[in-house]
Amino acid sequence: MTDSNLTLANLLFPDLPYTPESLETLYPSRTISTVTRFGPSPTGFLHIGGVYTSLLSERIAHLNDGVFYLRVEDTDDKREIENGVSMITEGLAKFGITIDEGPIGLGSADIGSYGPYTQSKRGSIYQTYIKELVARGIAYPCFLTEEESAAIREEQNLAKQPLGIYGSYSPWRSATLEEVRAAIAEGKKYVLRFRAHGNPSKRVKLHDEIRGDIEMQDNFMDTVLLKQTGIPTYHLAHVVDDHLMRTTHVIRAEEWIPSFALHIQLTEALGFIPPKYIHIAPLLKADGGGKRKLSKRKDPEANVEFFFEQGYTVEALVDYMFNIMDSKYEAWRLENPTADYKMYPLTIDRLPLSGALFDIVKLDSIANAVLTKLSTEELQSQGLKWAQKYDKDLAHLMEIYPDMTYKALDIERHTEKDPRRFTKFSDLRGQLQFFYEETFETLRNSAPFLPDCITPEVQKAFIEDYLKNYDATMERDVWFEQLKNIAHAHKFARTGDEWKTGEYIGRVGDVAMMLRLLLCASSKTPDLCYTMRVLGREVMEKRLKR
Ligand code: GLU
Repeated sequence: MTDSNLTLANLLFPDLPYTPESLETLYPSRTISTVTRFGPSPTGFLHIGGVYTSLLSERIAHLNDGVFYLRVEDTDDKREIENGVSMITEGLAKFGITIDEGPIGLGSADIGSYGPYTQSKRGSIYQTYIKELVARGIAYPCFLTEEESAAIREEQNLAKQPLGIYGSYSPWRSATLEEVRAAIAEGKKYVLRFRAHGNPSKRVKLHDEIRGDIEMQDNFMDTVLLKQTGIPTYHLAHVVDDHLMRTTHVIRAEEWIPSFALHIQLTEALGFIPPKYIHIAPLLKADGGGKRKLSKRKDPEANVEFFFEQGYTVEALVDYMFNIMDSKYEAWRLENPTADYKMYPLTIDRLPLSGALFDIVKLDSIANAVLTKLSTEELQSQGLKWAQKYDKDLAHLMEIYPDMTYKALDIERHTEKDPRRFTKFSDLRGQLQFFYEETFETLRNSAPFLPDCITPEVQKAFIEDYLKNYDATMERDVWFEQLKNIAHAHKFARTGDEWKTGEYIGRVGDVAMMLRLLLCASSKTPDLCYTMRVLGREVMEKRLKR
């Protein structure tokens, strides 16, 4: 620490309430072995990748009697939005993710003694450490204008050198105290940069808990630590916070691997013991034959709300994500179909190292299994709750026709033939719409045409006959035999051989399709026999005879 560095540090940060030593006392070491965190930027919605990371971090903490905390990383002031924090906490709560510390109290008030848990409220803490780095000559103010930086890049381009502010390309690196004083007196704006070693050919080995040692180019850039606004960059802020909040495991997206060397340099420069790092692979999306990261802007499914809107259950989403995290989870789930996911002994050992494709087919099959496990009462009540939020018209009909709704949902469920019609709650509308008069009317407007062989005369005669003989108490097999026989009497072939004789106007299938279309205005309905039972004689007569 030279005198002029110390003078510079005091000039830039004249009165700060803390020193690194006082912060050590304010944020004492914890006695627990595992402290993890989720550090989202409140940018407007909860990303499915964020849920994935927090599920993992929360489990790793709590399975080891540790602490999981939420830290709001709002240093990128432009992107911040109102209610961003409550959107995150409410979203995580839906997944049953228990947060021990963070802005999780009433009105996003802090809970926990390692706060504030919002980076924008920690300005003087970050400045304390930057001041320390300036005093030790490891950080310096840089007054370059945008034009000057652009000119440096231009020069580097021509010389085929890496682009950026570093080493001999950083004019303010070697500025004297007087030059800095003069620039400040002129009112020039400045950032504070890290003084890296500036040697692009130096390499380092860094340890990741799931990837092992990663060898990479060492950081040589004089990265910005404090922006012109006095707000720190993520690099500095998270290193300071993870230290003071006593994080033991940093579980974060692999997109941070390129800055890993810088983070370790900063940690060491500040005299902190580095936490363990776990860089997890992102969720990917298939795109034009390739794969890419789910994009906040382009992909609606990046937002968890998308899945809630569709009526995927939390259980299905959690099971799906656990399947990605740990290849042994699926077998465990089969053995423990109703167990809380928190009973699963998740470890980081089997985390995938390359991005998992977000596989909607797999999610659907899990989601289908989850809804299939529900009793029909549960399906009805959970479905109603979903509809009250996302499909109000349907909710209204479900409320005024509870019995019919129950019977319609119950068709063939939990039988040998269970067609497992429900994957997500938004499937309810498609499966219920035939039964309510109100939605049936809308369907009729776009109903498919009857098969060609059904002329108005044939239709009228068959229906008269059918209604005369129809009996709702018939077993399904008997019901079908009867349908075939009545159809046969009206010149519809019961078998392929009969049809080949050329003596028939159509087949039994045509008659069944006619009934389906007249009764449901759709060719895709639940089993016809049970559908008829749910509709009841009165409705059947009305729909068949009009
Ligand atoms: N705010 C960072 C992000 O949203 C957090 C990264 C980390 O967990 O350290 O990517």
